[in-house]
Amino acid sequence: MTSANRPEGGEVRRALTDLAVDGFGELAALPDAKSFTPTQIRDWVFAKGARSFDEMTNLSKPLRAALAASWTVRSGTLEKRHASKDGTVGLLTRLHDGHVIESVSIPEGDRHTLCISSQVGCAVACAFCASGLDGVIRNLSSGEIVEQVLVARELSEQPLTNYVFMGSGEPTHNWKAVEASIATLTHPDGLGIGARRITVSTIGHPAALRKMVETEIPFNVALSVHVGDDAEREALMPGLGTSDLAATLAAARERFDATGRRLTAEVVVLAGVNDTDRHARLLADVVAGHPCAVNLIPWNPVDGLDFTPPAPARIDAMVEILTRAGVTTTVRRPRGQDVGVACGQLRRRELRG
Ligand code: SAH
Repeated sequence: MTSANRPEGGEVRRALTDLAVDGFGELAALPDAKSFTPTQIRDWVFAKGARSFDEMTNLSKPLRAALAASWTVRSGTLEKRHASKDGTVGLLTRLHDGHVIESVSIPEGDRHTLCISSQVGCAVACAFCASGLDGVIRNLSSGEIVEQVLVARELSEQPLTNYVFMGSGEPTHNWKAVEASIATLTHPDGLGIGARRITVSTIGHPAALRKMVETEIPFNVALSVHVGDDAEREALMPGLGTSDLAATLAAARERFDATGRRLTAEVVVLAGVNDTDRHARLLADVVAGHPCAVNLIPWNPVDGLDFTPPAPARIDAMVEILTRAGVTTTVRRPRGQDVGVACGQLRRRELRG
């Protein structure tokens, strides 16, 4: 296949977005390069968001030609932009090997949140989620993650304020690349985004959370809890393996102690599955005593999946039970449903053609 990274018959070219902020040194070996060339190129790629070598006007033409022979600036190509009436925008990117991923930007008052994918598909296959319906296809590289932010920044009228790893994929299954992407996003010589503006949402495996304790970057963590009972949770999240919510919350606590960063327990609420008073009390018991707020997320319908969003009265009842138990509880409003950009729908439609 011909693509930005693989001209017909040629070698695969690496994307500059995949380099770490301190990894541009190797470019000093290019013909016509000066000692400051790597810094200049890094600034073009991350700070100035250049899309082509032609934009890099402070580099000599021979140097730009040498760069272009073995590198591309970015590796993916924006294919479609779907704007919803409520301001939500779905961005569909074609990766160099033909796969597609989506990112979604969600304006809400002063906030403008970008929902980022970390894998093509997902191995966890949560019963209610569109991303895992075809399993996991591959991990995204750090550059492919960073590019989602670069592209969304370019296209957004309202500046982005928050970044959530809540698109396709389980971030802890691709932790090396996700961690590297967060390092680039937050580095002052990268995209310069405050770590506190980034949230990694995860199925919350105790061992994976421990790895996050080792990361010094103080991003936020959201745990996909969904239900306070281990057996019921395993049934909803087949790829999780064994659920051990007590150990998960304990590991999350360790991370909170290390970073002081807020923890959120996410609960996708499904009518008749986890929206009863009993479920609300179970949740309250599990998070009690932990520095953890609960975010109730009414299910976004996914074609072909046989669940129903909860009745508003059930959400109200759950909020009341949790709040009475002393648990800070918020409810997420569904967004982007009119053009089907809510929760992985855009990519699925694209795959079906
Ligand atoms: N794999 C990670 C991150 C991606 S999903 C995780 O599971 O946390 C981000 C959040 O969106 C998770 O809480 C997930 O359960 C939720 N989600 C997935 N499909 C959904 C849907 N159809 N409606 C509402 N929330 C959904």
